[in-house]
Formats: sequence, structure tokens, C-alpha cells
Amino acid sequence: MSLTVNTSPIVTTQAQYILTDSRQVSFPGQSIFFAIKGERHDGHRFLPELYAAGVREFVVEEAAFTGALRETAATWDDAQIWVVSSSIRALQQLVASKRKQFDIPVVGIAGSNGKTIVKEWLVQLLSPGRSIVASPKSYNSQIGVPLSVWNLSKEHSLAIFEAGISKAHEMEYLQPVMQPTIGIFTNIGPAHDDGFRSRKQKITEKLRLFTKVKKLIYRKDYHEIDEEISLILKPVNAFLETLSWGSNYSGSHVQVTFNPQKDKTVISLTGKLGNHTFETGFRDDASLENLTHCIVFLLDFGLEPAVIQERVLLLKPVSMRLELKEGINHSYIIDDAYNNDLQGLAMALNFLAQQEQRNRKTVILSDVLQTGQTPTELYKMVSRLLSEKSIDRLIGIGKQISSQASLFDIAEQEFYDDTDSFLKTFAFPTLADTLVLVKGARPFSFEKIVHRIQQKAHDTVLEINLDALVHNLNYYRARAGQGTKIMAMVKAFAYGSGSSEVAALLQYHRVDYLGVAYTDEGVMLRQSGITLPIMVMNATLPTFDLLWQYKLEPEIYSRRILTDWIEYITRKGEPTNTPSVHLKLDTGMHRLGFVKDDYEWLVEQLRQNPALKVATLFSHLVGADEGVHNEFSRKQYAQFMEGAELIEATLGYKTIKHILNSAGIVRFPEYRLDMVRLGIGLYGVEATGQDQRALQSVGTLKTIVSQVKYLSSGETVGYSRKGVVDHDSAIATLAIGYADGYDRGLGNGVGKVWVNGTLCPTIGNICMDMTMIDVTNAQVEEGDEVIVFGKEVPITELAKTINTIPYEILTGIGDRVKRVFFKE
Ligand SMILES: *Cc1c(COP(=O)(O)O)cnc(C)c1O
Repeated sequence: MSLTVNTSPIVTTQAQYILTDSRQVSFPGQSIFFAIKGERHDGHRFLPELYAAGVREFVVEEAAFTGALRETAATWDDAQIWVVSSSIRALQQLVASKRKQFDIPVVGIAGSNGKTIVKEWLVQLLSPGRSIVASPKSYNSQIGVPLSVWNLSKEHSLAIFEAGISKAHEMEYLQPVMQPTIGIFTNIGPAHDDGFRSRKQKITEKLRLFTKVKKLIYRKDYHEIDEEISLILKPVNAFLETLSWGSNYSGSHVQVTFNPQKDKTVISLTGKLGNHTFETGFRDDASLENLTHCIVFLLDFGLEPAVIQERVLLLKPVSMRLELKEGINHSYIIDDAYNNDLQGLAMALNFLAQQEQRNRKTVILSDVLQTGQTPTELYKMVSRLLSEKSIDRLIGIGKQISSQASLFDIAEQEFYDDTDSFLKTFAFPTLADTLVLVKGARPFSFEKIVHRIQQKAHDTVLEINLDALVHNLNYYRARAGQGTKIMAMVKAFAYGSGSSEVAALLQYHRVDYLGVAYTDEGVMLRQSGITLPIMVMNATLPTFDLLWQYKLEPEIYSRRILTDWIEYITRKGEPTNTPSVHLKLDTGMHRLGFVKDDYEWLVEQLRQNPALKVATLFSHLVGADEGVHNEFSRKQYAQFMEGAELIEATLGYKTIKHILNSAGIVRFPEYRLDMVRLGIGLYGVEATGQDQRALQSVGTLKTIVSQVKYLSSGETVGYSRKGVVDHDSAIATLAIGYADGYDRGLGNGVGKVWVNGTLCPTIGNICMDMTMIDVTNAQVEEGDEVIVFGKEVPITELAKTINTIPYEILTGIGDRVKRVFFKE
């Protein structure tokens, strides 16, 4: 075969899998890769890597397929390459033509909120007895929709997809890809208002998904939606039948009332679909709205009301979270509650493969729920996925997976008929020093297994949102611009967030360098499998052996440490193994670094010791976050560049130069040089305060209510009788104290925490392990969850109330507080 370059914009392929993320390859020989060039990310960079992994079909963009890449690709004589003007559009066209081959009901869901929940619930409610294809997770974007629709196969009798847009004209591209026959418009709210001229325009744009549907379900209480349907949609969709629901006064086809009772809600419907009542355990407005969309759909679809009622009671809140936490016997658990189909399994296995904390990998897997293949075909694929990710041990649970045991070829494997027999007979001590992926379809209740094998946490946990961290990384990447490297600062236990987990994620997302304060921190990262280059800022003579052994790169900041290092590496005499160093110039911080008077001496040393490898040259701004220091920052930069020029002239080669921290990246883009050092911003705090809204909150510190008591006016709470109760009060005791990092300064009403939607002040002094709060104005019971900081209580505000900075609060969170990592 020879390399085929297609210039026709129409992609035709026999490939079964579409790849848009170079890191998600599972079946390379059966995959086609679409190289997508975004603001922050360029898929074309990964073509050679994918080719090496066995991918042979590629769609690339004219503008990016040039120079070296084109030359490299010219040597691949067994590849097929399509050169198009936009990979995303080509992907959409490919999927649109596949969609045309299917003639089944396709439900399309749009709206500001609730799309994913309505979709997941419809699947749960309709599933028994039906073979349904649905968008994985919240795949609803310009790329997510085609990837979802691509999963259609001839065995499916119903499809349910969601579509989300953030600006005008996007829906036009999604309609032909999805071609829904039935629509659900969930609601309209402020999400993505920025991308549109007006609320009206946003509704009109979303309605474009429904230009060819035969039926549209919506809630008539949203007057604007109702109006735009009449004004805009009806004139272009002659076959449209609307099915609206709403309050008694809305004039809708179905009138709905919600009757809250003690521990349930009764939903009554009258009108076009007949008279019905349904009971549910859900009580909040959003859940009731989402559920009513589902019920109206199901009644109209012809499901028996009794069946609907039975299944509604079994509905579970939608959790798509994947959690990483500590387990028994020094193991780590990845708890993935999301549906267990082949695609979900592949995603979870990829996440498992990213983790470096333990060498051994165990998978506890239920039957895989997927239609369209014989069990033998299906479990052959499962077996291949597991082998590719080098799984050491498989524990299969379920009749189906057990009956296919002979297809697996894993070093250790065992099978159980169901979850209960596993729990009764499994030898739990054998689950030690391993990463365990727990992946089960909902009916298998794998939460029981997770409960059994997770480390019992002290009731205070710091939850780290890994998606938010990646979002923040990408924000700074975009600000720093292409061509600027990123050193992520993970000192002090990654600002309190957990260094090995955060570092593994950063490594996966291809940052260029990591920075730590002390040698021990670097050693810890190496021991947990981190291979990125690591700079150690406070390197000292006694730790040189460790630096050498673990390939850690010291910051050289003084005459003494340079002399020691030169002597050390000369004695070692292995130039090829010598770690590179980072020279720090002090331009005004006056902490560590060479000052101007040292330059002459420094340059002389460099000249005499060519074995010394200088990787980077850097300095640090003292006041990058504040306008009052602009003048000083500019002086620092000028002085740094002067020193750097002198040093590079002596070295005879260019080094990587860097001076900006998180605040600097936002305020001094002109100084970004070759690399930036990203710290606090990664963890969700925009240090200048200018652009906080662009970042996502990463850490949520949570605790629980241990006890509630009722006190009369005049009684006191806590040590030294500081908390005086001046009205009859309800007081709750929380399982967090200053030993966990809840600063003692937050006592006596200074600090407030969030309980069941109400901010409650502290009362009395904070104790070492406990804190009391006044919950008189809140609905609180023992065992309730309490948010100490997070989205509801911003850490920036919390820091201000006690005159400190978020850095101190984050790094002060105690060791006994468990860190739990999750991604949506
Ligand atoms: C901690 C640190 C940073 C990161 O600073 P942020 O304000 O957290 O972005 C950058 N450079 C040096 C030298 C540091 O010590």
C-alpha cells in the first residue's frame, strides 16, 4: 500500500472508532483520528505518536498539515490521510451521513439545565426491554454530539442525545448530525448568556435543533420559550406537534401540580394525556421539573402508568463522578459509578492507566451492559481492553462475565455470580498495594464494594475536582500562549491538594516541568511514578545524593551552593548522568538568588566548568499581582534580562528563561518568555482578582454535623464561655477544628459555613478537633454535610475575613483530612 492523501472533503471510512483525543486510543487498527486545532490544543502534534501506536486513518486540517509534519507523514506508506479545511466539520458530515441510515425514534434534548439528567433518567426509565443508545456522560458539544451519534448501530430501537451550545450558529451544525424526531426543551436560564445578544436569541438558536422534529415537549411556564416556538419554530416546521406542560394557568396541554408531603412529592397530571398521579422521593424544583419532562414523554410514548410509577421510585440521582481515594491495605480505589458499557469501561481504564501511585492494577468489573454484539464478541473486546492496559488482576462479578471466563487472559483472575457472594467469600487482605478500578453497572450495587474497601475517612474531607484543575490549567495555557512552556508548581503537597495525584494529572496533560520546594517532595513524586523533569528550589548539600539518584534538578542560588554542586559533580564524574540546574537571579525579592555583584564570579565559574548543564535561568517578581508595583516589576524584568544575556553569552547556548508566576501570567503577558511558573491559579484562585470568574473552584473542604443541641438564652458554648447564647438557639458541633486547618481566628462568629443552603456563623472558640456553629436559622440534622469552603464559600472570602491569603489556608489543611479526587 502507499500513503493516500485525499483532498476530497468527504471522509469515508470503515473504522469503528472515532478518536479526537490522542490519549484515548484503545483499538488503533479500527480507529480514525480527527486532528482538531483549538485555541489551547492542537491535535496535529500527536499524529506521529498515533501512527506509532497503530492508527492508520487521519483527518487533518490544511492549515496545520504543513512543513515537518507533512514530511513525516509522507514516509507512512500504509496510512490514509484526508486533508480538510475543518476537522470538526468533516467529522460532523461523516456522522450526519451515518445518521441518515437509521430510521428509529431519536430524542434530542436541548435547554440550559437538566439535559444530562433528563437523558440519564429516560434511559433508566425506558431501559428494561429496550435497546437504547445515548450520549455518554454530557457529550453535547460540537464534537460530543457526533461522537455520541456515531455509536448508533442496527440493534438500537431508540436513541437519546443531548445538544448544548455556547454561542450563536452552533446548533445549525448539530441538527443534521443528530436529526432528532422528538424534542425535549428542558428550560432556559442564564447559562452561557455571554455567547448571545439576548435571552430570546439564545432560545431561537437552541430551537434550531428542532426544525425537523415531529413532536416537541416543553414547559409552558417559560413564556419566552413558548413565544419563540410560535413565532420562529412553527413557521419553519410545518409538521410540528407541540406537547406542553405547566401550571394550571399556563394554558398548557397537560396541567401539572406538585404536592410536597413529609418524605415524598405527589405529582398530579390532568389534561391531554389523562389524569394521573405519581409519587417520588425527589423534592427539589429542578428534579421535579426534570422528572415531569420524563413522565410526559413516557405517557405520550405509550408506557403504562403503573410501570412508570414503579420505575420512578427506583430512579437514582445521576452521578457521573469518578472518584479516586485511598483504600484498605495501602491500596488506591478508582470508584466509577457511571454505566458500564464498553466506551465507559475504556474511559475508566484510561484513567487507571494515568495513575502512577501503585504498580499493580486490579479491576473489579460487573457484566458489561451493551447490546449489539454476542457475549463472545463483547467479552473478547473487554478482554483486549484489559490486556492492553496491562491489568494484573481481574475480579469479574455477574453471571454473564463469569460464563465468558475462558476469554480472559489475565495473570490472576476470579469470578463471582453476584455482588453479595463476592462480599461473603472474597479474601480482602489480598487486595493490597494495588490500584483498584471498581466499575459496575448500576444494578450490581457496587457501592457496597466501595464501602467495604475504602479507607474509612475522618469525617472531614478535601474534595479535589480534577476537571476544574484541568480547566484552570487550560486557561493559563491560553493566556501564556503557544510556544510558552508551563512549569506547574506542586510544592507543599500541591498547595495542600495532594501532590502525587495532581502531578499524575499534570503529567497526563503534558505540562513541561514540575516545581517543588524541597528534595523530599521531589523524591516522593519520583516514587509515585512521575517522570517529568522536576526543579527543586531549596536544594542543599546533604540531599545531593538523592537529587542525583532521582534525577531531580536543583535551583542554584548562591556562591556556596554552586561551589558545592560543582565539587559534587566533579567527584561523581559522570557527565551524561548529571542533572541539569536552574540558575536563580535575585532581582528584588531578596530571598534566594544571585545578586548583581555575583554575576562576574558566576560567569567565571560557568566558563571554568563546562560540565555544568544549565537548563533554565529565572527570577521571581515580588508584586506581580498589584498595580502599585508595576514600576518595580518592570525594573526586575529589565535587570533579569541583562543578567540572562550576560550568562547566555558565556554559556554559548540559549537556556529556557522564566519570570512569571500565576499573577504575572495575567498581568504581564509581555514577559512570558520561554516558560511560566504556574501555582495558585491551578488550584482555582486568580491571584490578581481580575479574572476570578474564568477559573473553577478546585478544592471543597467538607465536614459533618456530629451533634445538634438546643440551648436557652444565657447559656454559653465552648472553652472560656466565649460563645454566649443571647436567644434560644440550635447549636451544631462540627467534626473539624484548628488541627484540621480551620483557623482559630474564625471562631466567635468571624467564620461562616454552608449547611443545607444557609450560611451559619461559628459560635465560641474553635477547638482543636471541633467547631460549634449557630444553626437556629437553618434546617440541620446530625450527620448533615457542611461546606467549609468551596463554590458556596469562596476561599478568597474566607481568607479575607482573617487577614490572610488563600495560599495559607490551602497549605494549612491537616494531614488527617482525607483527599478525595473526582472527575465528572
Ligand atoms: C510558589 C512559586 C511560584 C508560583 O506562584 P503562584 O503565585 O502560586 O503562582 C512561582 N515561582 C516561585 C519561585 C515560587 O516559589
